[in-house]
Amino acid sequence: MSLPPLVEPAAELTVDEVRRYSRHLIIPDVAMDGQKRLKNAKVLCVGAGGLGSPALMYLAAAGVGTLGIVEFDTVDESNLQRQIIHGQSDIGRPKAESAANSIREINPLVNVVIHNVALDNDNVFEIFGQYDLIVDGTDNFATRYLVNDAAVLLGKPYVWGSIYRFDGQASVFWAEHGPCYRCLYPEPPPPGMVPSCAEGGVLGVLCASIGSIQVTEAIKLLTGIGEPLVGRLMVYDALEMSYRQVKVRKDPNCALCGENPTVTGLIDYDDFCGAVSAEAAEAADGSTITALELKELRDAGKDFLLVDVREPAEYEIVSIPGSVLIPKGEILNGSALASLPQDRQIILHCKSGVRSAEALAALKAAGFKDSVHVQGGVLAWINTVDPSLPTY
Ligand SMILES: [Zn+2]
Repeated sequence: MSLPPLVEPAAELTVDEVRRYSRHLIIPDVAMDGQKRLKNAKVLCVGAGGLGSPALMYLAAAGVGTLGIVEFDTVDESNLQRQIIHGQSDIGRPKAESAANSIREINPLVNVVIHNVALDNDNVFEIFGQYDLIVDGTDNFATRYLVNDAAVLLGKPYVWGSIYRFDGQASVFWAEHGPCYRCLYPEPPPPGMVPSCAEGGVLGVLCASIGSIQVTEAIKLLTGIGEPLVGRLMVYDALEMSYRQVKVRKDPNCALCGENPTVTGLIDYDDFCGAVSAEAAEAADGSTITALELKELRDAGKDFLLVDVREPAEYEIVSIPGSVLIPKGEILNGSALASLPQDRQIILHCKSGVRSAEALAALKAAGFKDSVHVQGGVLAWINTVDPSLPTY
């Protein structure tokens, strides 16, 4: 299936532009017409992180006339392993500004529009409305469903990508011509089931593999060349070095783009995706201590067992002194329960407090009624108790 170009061509290219884009202009399928369409194109990148970095850089180099960036975060040292649009001297700066600087250096002819906000229900239509195409580089399910729903409700196409460790996926969602993200994934995974890159890690260069698919698809859609990745999911495995294609059909029962939609406007995405599960929230209610309270218990000589429920690789990077490592999975499947003391309080922690809340629910169900977990996890410990520890 080929589709008509998304964008009308600009009136003309300047002499400078002809020189800059000459390697595009001599490709017959792109040529002057395609380059003029890119010049007229307005593309929004949601996120200037792992996927947003290569996406923005190549879209800028390709001559996309207007590039929008939605990003509210600031550059952290741990971003630099993969977010190559930012550099050492950008640490602490807003990512949107840092990305805009890099784009201007790559191609000063690009008009960069910064949206230094968190995308939410109140601003998404207004922001998306200014663009022809959206590139989704978000890393959490709540924003992913928000991007999808807003794009479908506005009738706009978007290029989606996701990355984790050595695996990546990409597709083009455009409800007018094919499936949407909800047709592929009607429901978000249960909270805590799918680890984020912050929890599980990501091979930095994976961002380039998936980001380059996203930019390729964006250029094809804008100029109307080739076969767009509509109705197909690309699945990339870096360890096998394989790309697989999976057909994705439009789901006639899709809650959003199906024949009888039940989602006809934006919903509460945090609630839909759940930061923590209902069981975990219930278990944590009244059984949550702060990192400072943990320090006070320790300073007071209280007898308790501090259990770190993260993964071994995380424990190796940084751990709270005196903690023992029992990964969450061993608590959830029950295998670690027999080794836990009955006569001492158990205090659980993880990186940020989500996994420990899940483990807490399992512990309480197993009879460890007085166990608690640490709000904010090891990150809170570092921030409030011991800033000399490394963070990740
Ligand atoms: Zn759908």
